[in-house]
Amino acid sequence: MHVFRLCKTRSSMFISWVVAFLFYVPFTLGSQPLHETSHSCAIDGLSTDTLGLCPYFGGVGYQASFSFETETEEAIPRDEVWVVRPSPGKGRGVFAAQDIARGTHIMEERPLFTGYAIADMTSDIETEFAQLSAEQQTEYLSCHEHKLQGEPESGRLLRILRSNAYTTQEGRIAIYPKVALINHSCQPNVLNADNQNTRIIIAMRDIVKGEEIFTTYIPLLMHTADRNQRLYQYGFQCQCEACKTSESDPRRQQAGMDLKELETALGTGLSKADKQSLTAKAEELARYVEKEGFADYFTKTSNLVVHYAKLAGLKGKARRWARKSLDHHSMIDEDSADSQRAAEILASI
Ligand SMILES: [Zn+2]
Repeated sequence: MHVFRLCKTRSSMFISWVVAFLFYVPFTLGSQPLHETSHSCAIDGLSTDTLGLCPYFGGVGYQASFSFETETEEAIPRDEVWVVRPSPGKGRGVFAAQDIARGTHIMEERPLFTGYAIADMTSDIETEFAQLSAEQQTEYLSCHEHKLQGEPESGRLLRILRSNAYTTQEGRIAIYPKVALINHSCQPNVLNADNQNTRIIIAMRDIVKGEEIFTTYIPLLMHTADRNQRLYQYGFQCQCEACKTSESDPRRQQAGMDLKELETALGTGLSKADKQSLTAKAEELARYVEKEGFADYFTKTSNLVVHYAKLAGLKGKARRWARKSLDHHSMIDEDSADSQRAAEILASI
């Protein structure tokens, strides 16, 4: 598997990281309460974060030919894109190892294994796990697990899956141990997308060296209380700025309602005035999600602008947003089926 090939060719660097990390991790980490730890790393009850034995702490970005800047200062290879470090209140997190420009592919990872639904995996999980290499099993077991109140100790393999699984384009659930290290924020700075059975993490804005990389685990166009209710399954309360202040709540809620209205009106008979007002509403919404970096909504909202602008006879506007949609898909993979479809839509206007 792509990821593991990389690990093997970098075994000497890996050992350097083990040494570096043993001295770097504060020994207080293991005492943090589980509910604040979105990605802790515990094997057989021991916090391996505390012991400095987690397999990914020196996470390897996939660019890279190795040359170290200095032997003393954290020893991060010059071309490395990301690195795993302790994240206050969250166990571990993924951080920018250098300045990262918008559009950069920060991480790409193929799944350790996939399934159709978590409930269906109950009987298969032991078999899937047994088929992994020892290295992959360690990688899997180092992922965060959230035990719900009253749950028995058994069933750890399934709990890890439940706490870290993503849905693929084909609707399968999949687990990506390196991507799982990225913590949640309601103000994410990356796009987290599935492309042909590979999960891709792309910078949605310029990210400064040392900044933490944040994705989102939940839909973002909702109130703080609702967002945190959705996060319950992961076992933590979000402490991001948006959750601390709740200032963005009215705008998020409005955006959520606008999205629902725009989707509900699809395929209904509309007057000329309706078409124009819905185009304006869709464009305002698409601009908002673009400005906030809510990348999960970008394709959907830009396509809504295209749809309503075409209905309203506003070809220039439709073309502008179709171009943005194509650029977005091309940033993920310019040869993908989604990019081809976006190019066809643009060409048809
Ligand atoms: Zn938050």
